Amino acid sequence: MQVVQYRSGQGLRVGLLQAAGVLDFTGAYQAYRLVTSGQAEPPYTGTEDLLAAGLFTVETFGAVARFLQEHGLQDQYRVQEYRLEAPLRRPGKIIALGRNYAAHALEHGREIPTEPIIFAKPPSSIVGPEAPVIYKPWLTRMDPEVELAFIIGRAGADIPRERAGEHIAGWTVANDVTARDLQFQDIAQAQPWFRSKGMDTFCPLGPCIVLPDEITLPVALDLELRVNGQVRQRDNTRSLIFPPDALVAFISRYMSLEPGDLICTGTPEGMKPVLPGDLMEATVQGIGTLRNPVVAG
Ligand code: ZN
Repeated sequence: MQVVQYRSGQGLRVGLLQAAGVLDFTGAYQAYRLVTSGQAEPPYTGTEDLLAAGLFTVETFGAVARFLQEHGLQDQYRVQEYRLEAPLRRPGKIIALGRNYAAHALEHGREIPTEPIIFAKPPSSIVGPEAPVIYKPWLTRMDPEVELAFIIGRAGADIPRERAGEHIAGWTVANDVTARDLQFQDIAQAQPWFRSKGMDTFCPLGPCIVLPDEITLPVALDLELRVNGQVRQRDNTRSLIFPPDALVAFISRYMSLEPGDLICTGTPEGMKPVLPGDLMEATVQGIGTLRNPVVAG
């Protein structure tokens, strides 16, 4: 199953993405609860509310999908006009990975790491599908990075690698936009590279969250980045030095993972800059394409 977050005349909503279109999960869940428990509940209008309540599960979405089908309600809950939002808007934390594909490490003339290199991006950097990524006038180089990302569904610390799958709520596509000159300048001075990865609009996310009924560990998904239709990056998540289960185990040794946290698994080789007017398209097999224009700011 695939879940989206969208905005319509009713405000922010959670949707089920099906071949025939988007169904209003927020409204359907209320109807489902009313029928099955006799209780009227306030609506869950965002994915983060569902994650916090422990309801962002294959079981919940499956139960509501079956409820709509059994009662012939799909058409009633089909959304006609909507705009996709990022599937997460303000995660508690975004952890991203440096040099997690060997070829990408080598193209920067650096060593292949012996343990994961983690850094943070601020939640304020998130934008949704089709949203502009802003190229500030004083920037000298901006690079896109296609990445498989995943969302934590269950809290944990010191999570053993073999139990990591139980903590993953779903999968999405991230573009880890980077002010590359600024990053190299900060690294050269032994400073954190937070600002180069943390600017507003530097974390496009989407278009949907694919649940673990469709994507399971170990992940072997093709991923690709195109700029103006030209392929820049192409690899498969089999090439990850530290795959998702290893990342959950490693990160949770140092900090608790909480529902709604986002982990971006790193990018393959093919670093090249973009300019205002360019169109970035990041695709991960089985999830979809995340499209964002670069716009002068
Ligand atoms: Zn990255």
